[in-house]
Amino acid sequence: MSRKIYGSCLCGTVKYEIENNFEIFYLCHCTQCQKISGSNHVSNLFGKPNSLRWLTGEAKIKRYEYPNRGFTNAFCTDCGGGVPFLTQSGKAVVVRAGTLGGQPQFFSSSKIFHSERPDGNEKAEASKSYEKFPITNKE
Ligand SMILES: [Zn+2]
Ligand SMILES: [Zn+2]
Repeated sequence: MSRKIYGSCLCGTVKYEIENNFEIFYLCHCTQCQKISGSNHVSNLFGKPNSLRWLTGEAKIKRYEYPNRGFTNAFCTDCGGGVPFLTQSGKAVVVRAGTLGGQPQFFSSSKIFHSERPDGNEKAEASKSYEKFPITNKE
C-alpha cells in the first residue's frame, strides 16, 4: 500500500493527489526544460500513469506538445504554474517536484541532459546561501 501525496499549481486552481512512490527523480537540464521553466533545469518525478487523480481544476490545464523529442509541457491557464502530465507514450506521469505539498519518495535520481546546462550554472550552485534576499546595504 502506498501513501498519497498532494500537489497544486501556484494559484491553487489545479489540485491533484498521486501515489507517493515515484520511480525516478530527474533533474533535467535540457534546453527545452530551460525554456518552459525559465530556469536552469526542471525537477521531474516519474510515476505510474494510473496513480494520478485530479481533485480540482482539470479543465484549466493547457497541454503543449513540442514537435521534437516527444516533449510535453502542461500548466494551469490561470497562473502558468506547471502541473502533472501523462507522457506522450502514456507510460508515465510526470510531476513537477515543486508542485508537491510534501516530501516525495523515489527509488533513484539522476541529472539528465547535463551537457546542455547553461554556462555559470555550477558557479551559481556553489555560491553562498541566504534564507531570504541578501541585505544589499553598503557594508
Ligand atoms: Zn494555477
Ligand atoms: Zn528536459
